[in-house]
Amino acid sequence: MKKVTTITLFMLSLFASAQQQTIDQKVNDLLKKMTIEEKIGQLNQYTGDNQATGPITINPNKQSEIKAGLIGSMLNIIGTKYTRQYQELAMQSRLKIPLLFGQDVIHGYKTTFPLPLAEAASWDLQAIELAARVAATEASASGIHWTFAPMVDISRDPRWGRVMEGAGEDTYLGSKIAYARVKGFQGNKLGDLNSVMACVKHFAAYGAGVGGRDYNSVDMSERMLWETYLPPFKAALDAGAATFMNSFNDINGIPATGNAHLQRDILKGKWNFQGFVVSDWGSIGEMVAHGYSKNLKEAAYSAITAGSDMDMESNAYRYNLAQLVKEGRVSVDLIDDAVKRILRKKFELGLFDDPYRYSDEKRAEKALNNPEHRKAALDVAQKSIVLLKNENQTLPISKSVKTIAFIGPMVKEYKENMGFWSVELPEVDYNKWIVSQWDGLQNKVGKNTKLLYAKGCEIEGTNKDGFAEAVETAKQADVVILSIGERRDMSGEAKSRSDIHLPGVQEDLVKAIQATGKPVVVLINAGRPLVFNWTADNVPAVVYTWWLGTEAGNAIANVLFGDYNPSGKLPMTFPREVGQIPIYYNHFSTGRPAKTENETNYVSAYIDLKNSPKFPFGYGLSYTQFSYSDLKLSSTKIKSNETIKVSFKLSNVGKVAGEEVAQLYLKDKFGSVVRPVLELRDFEKVKLNAGESKTIEFTIDKEKLSFYNDKLEWTTEPGDFELMIGSSSADIKLRSDFELLEK
Ligand code: BGC
Repeated sequence: MKKVTTITLFMLSLFASAQQQTIDQKVNDLLKKMTIEEKIGQLNQYTGDNQATGPITINPNKQSEIKAGLIGSMLNIIGTKYTRQYQELAMQSRLKIPLLFGQDVIHGYKTTFPLPLAEAASWDLQAIELAARVAATEASASGIHWTFAPMVDISRDPRWGRVMEGAGEDTYLGSKIAYARVKGFQGNKLGDLNSVMACVKHFAAYGAGVGGRDYNSVDMSERMLWETYLPPFKAALDAGAATFMNSFNDINGIPATGNAHLQRDILKGKWNFQGFVVSDWGSIGEMVAHGYSKNLKEAAYSAITAGSDMDMESNAYRYNLAQLVKEGRVSVDLIDDAVKRILRKKFELGLFDDPYRYSDEKRAEKALNNPEHRKAALDVAQKSIVLLKNENQTLPISKSVKTIAFIGPMVKEYKENMGFWSVELPEVDYNKWIVSQWDGLQNKVGKNTKLLYAKGCEIEGTNKDGFAEAVETAKQADVVILSIGERRDMSGEAKSRSDIHLPGVQEDLVKAIQATGKPVVVLINAGRPLVFNWTADNVPAVVYTWWLGTEAGNAIANVLFGDYNPSGKLPMTFPREVGQIPIYYNHFSTGRPAKTENETNYVSAYIDLKNSPKFPFGYGLSYTQFSYSDLKLSSTKIKSNETIKVSFKLSNVGKVAGEEVAQLYLKDKFGSVVRPVLELRDFEKVKLNAGESKTIEFTIDKEKLSFYNDKLEWTTEPGDFELMIGSSSADIKLRSDFELLEK
């Protein structure tokens, strides 16, 4: 049996490489027929003037440019009709090279999934992969070949608005999620009709901008880059990612878009990436504003030589590359390399066989109305919810409760639940398509439960006129649910905030409602970790609901009533105050670490604030309790080519079934460079019935013990390690030391 599998795999790999050879042959044949203008044409990408509603019109200049073969790709063109219409223009060009259609399909297409950061809180790689798969199925049937996702930027700064688009602060979790998302988008192979090309972004270190301001400069050591910021990109590449996008920031003085070290040395060199790199929107042109390029022509020169293959919206390649070739500053070989990378993907997608194969109305009709997609959205939405606090068994709410007051500015919103970076289709009535939080609660409660509503206040602003009505409404109820947070356009691109407290007068509303003495549950909807100390310290139940997408209301109701037992764990540290930022769990120890939380003199601490976060990385409660016991290590002394089998017993000691994310952390106690106080190195999400136990196993191998030394070698060093198994980064349940011996 094993032999058969090996032979089959061998045959498949031969077939795949033969297919690649024929594609390379086709690319070379086509390239020979292309003029330099047509070649450069392939390197340009422009946005469509897509109207949300109304008739489709294509800008006449764009029409003639496409017909002349001067554009290789378009973005922001939604739907089968519109993509077809554009493709028809490309088919009138001399060589009939099809256009590529790209789109930011970040967390769903018609079916909106939770924000990527929220999904990361599920720690459920299968559910995350499925979410990307569904998005790919819907988008690819609607004419889209290529999504500008996943964003795999690590970020330790919740002021940065784009944290909503990534997987949070941790490199290990982020790498696993990057891999899962690429697999989900791309399926088994490009060209499958339910797949879109992934675009891993933003290469690199975009999430480390100074002060959390979007687009800002990054200055970091090469070791930090390799150890913390690059691994998720490498994981995405290992998953087969077809394309990369570079980024707006400069890094160590050189804009990422013109950065040959990143794109040529690392990505296309060391990592042997065979796909193509697209610039970020206008980022080639922005090298002028960076003060790096004298003008657009020099920007084009820097970008193409540094390895940016496609120019998104800068017009830099379109108007300057031919001249640069003429002057002999850019070689035709360099252009050819970029063109080949792009053409190869067009062949792999099957576009030369049928340029319209993705714009299929019948398939779209089916894909966009598949009830299974909503089920997947509900599943991951409820898994993304994090229970932060639950005193006095406030949750779950009993189904026989007589009166519930549902209060707050988010309760009756529809589109707000979609969050930032969601696709909006002109034909969809989102007030019907999305389950609002109010709808979700109504779907859940029986006839005998009365639901009351008051808005209370807006998300922003200072107006408290609605408080009195909200308080009166609360007084009539047995339990009050308050839904507050950010507006969806407060976290996202260009949405950095210096103040991440709950906006407006919302926390005052919480105080007013809490003063009624009723049991209060607060739902916080946001795209980043917020600061809400009063609420966290005074309200008995707090649930972080992010923005959960199409099925938001049902997911929230399931959690509130215990039909789904919350299992989410924070993928980012929640600070006590903005002044602690950047704050992250895997920091180094100083020479003067504080030994207690209250120690401030002559240690690395603030005199006015504790060092610990409000809620730590990996934290999240359940309606049941788990116990950890019986830690066993197969050995406590190993050589670097050996492994340790770690096992322990995880038991559900509470009264209901639930899921726990068991987390394995390591600490390398001494190194030739200082090592973090602890680092996530494995995890498993385990479902257990009440009273059930399971033995969980992890393996410690060389990879998990390695780090980058000061020569940038990925290596291990003999010495003492501490192994920690925990329910969060700050709640370690089991510990053991072990030793890595000399080789
Ligand atoms: C963003 C990218 C996005 C692109 C296209 C840019 O502003 O930074 O992440 O893919 O626009 O919409």
